[in-house]
Amino acid sequence: MARARAASVAASSEYTGDDGIRRPGGEVHAWTPGMNQTLCGLALSRTRLRRFPHVPFDFKATDVITAEDRIGYICPRCVAATSRRGERSWTRTSPRP
Ligand SMILES: [Zn+2]
Repeated sequence: MARARAASVAASSEYTGDDGIRRPGGEVHAWTPGMNQTLCGLALSRTRLRRFPHVPFDFKATDVITAEDRIGYICPRCVAATSRRGERSWTRTSPRP
């Protein structure tokens, strides 16, 4: 399944996981590699967001942040911008009996 446009993560902070891979933390936005701003229009240089081209932005509106996550805030506008592309149906209504 090819995604129409792959969005990666831009975040306000970062930490290194047990596997040595950088992971996003803090405030998380969607960002397309090669662009200098997030999908919701924040300039990366001005907001000092870090880029994570190796981390796909696959957060959904239904995602719940747990205490173990280092992520404190998922930008709802970026979630809307990525889920509107429609290749992933995040609302699954079960048929009524
Ligand atoms: Zn955003």
